[in-house]
Amino acid sequence: MANSPKIKVGVVGVGHLGKFHVKQYHNINNVICMGVFDINSKEAHRVAKEYNITAYDLLEDLIKECEAISICTPTSTHHAVAKQALSSDCHVLIEKPITHNVMEAKDLIKISNEYNKIIQVGHIERFNPALSELNLDNINPTFIESHRLSPFNTRGTDVDVVLDLMIHDIDILLNLVKSEIDNIVASGICVLSNKIDMANTRIKFANGCVANLTASRISQKQLRKLRIFENNKYTNIDFLHPSQETYILAKNKPKKPSPYIIVDENEKKYILYSKSKIESYNALTLELDNFINSIFNQKKPLVSAYDGLAAIEVAFKILEQINLNKNN
Ligand code: NAD
Repeated sequence: MANSPKIKVGVVGVGHLGKFHVKQYHNINNVICMGVFDINSKEAHRVAKEYNITAYDLLEDLIKECEAISICTPTSTHHAVAKQALSSDCHVLIEKPITHNVMEAKDLIKISNEYNKIIQVGHIERFNPALSELNLDNINPTFIESHRLSPFNTRGTDVDVVLDLMIHDIDILLNLVKSEIDNIVASGICVLSNKIDMANTRIKFANGCVANLTASRISQKQLRKLRIFENNKYTNIDFLHPSQETYILAKNKPKKPSPYIIVDENEKKYILYSKSKIESYNALTLELDNFINSIFNQKKPLVSAYDGLAAIEVAFKILEQINLNKNN
């Protein structure tokens, strides 16, 4: 199977997100989508019919046919489904968050190493071109601020907003700041669900960088922004309407005409502004493509199980602080 020219894939869980996985696998070269499995058999058959693929009645039967699967089931089921797939020699792309506790994520890493299988985690914002334009080798943030706000939807409320939405920004943060975390303070509240619906955290790193992350799933409007401050640079990233704006403090007037704001002519300080053009893209296609390429080339995916584990480790520390505050 490993030498087959096309990778045989399947999708487990064809709810809101799983349907997009099925759709996008059809847009990727070197892939044959074998079929789907969902405990909601009616929905599985409906999706399978739409794409002329098979709806399997048993998860094990889908896994037997596939070299790789996407796991798009609720977070509480990720560990069981991934464990079954990995130990049947199947690579897995697990939707974020990797699992709903740290022990389960560590267990999956152990199994994937035993069976030499790839785990990719669906932190899809890493494939957002507004972020991927950043030069990570050349970045030294002193302060980072993120806002991720969404209108209420019962989907995802099986976990706190920290694991549901903030997890994207935690993953990005850990990828931007290469330093140990010194200290976390956080607060949050339950509003419509019986889990935390709004949360804010301030994370201080050993290198001095401070991050302030806010997430809410009870907002009127959607907002997904990340602001990165460095000594001589400010970058403003919009994930929703992908764009990247930068303001750079320079000593020389730009030679070419460009929109710049003069701060002080005498001091020769100029703030140079630029906004990058983002071509149209589909982040999920890029993510699935990365998964398939990692399998073909036996290389680490952009978002590995270790990244998924690191993100939930921080998420649970944030939740610990929220609960401490609630009980005081
Ligand atoms: P959903 O409720 O719409 O769909 C889940 C589907 O899984 C349902 O069809 C359900 O019947 C099925 N299911 C439940 N348990 C199952 C099991 N044991 N085996 C097979 N099928 C099972 O949920 P969703 O919004 O599609 O979310 C699914 C996952 O995707 C969650 O982990 C969520 O956090 C993640 N998600 C990620 C993003 C992202 O930006 N990457 C966005 C939304 C959701």
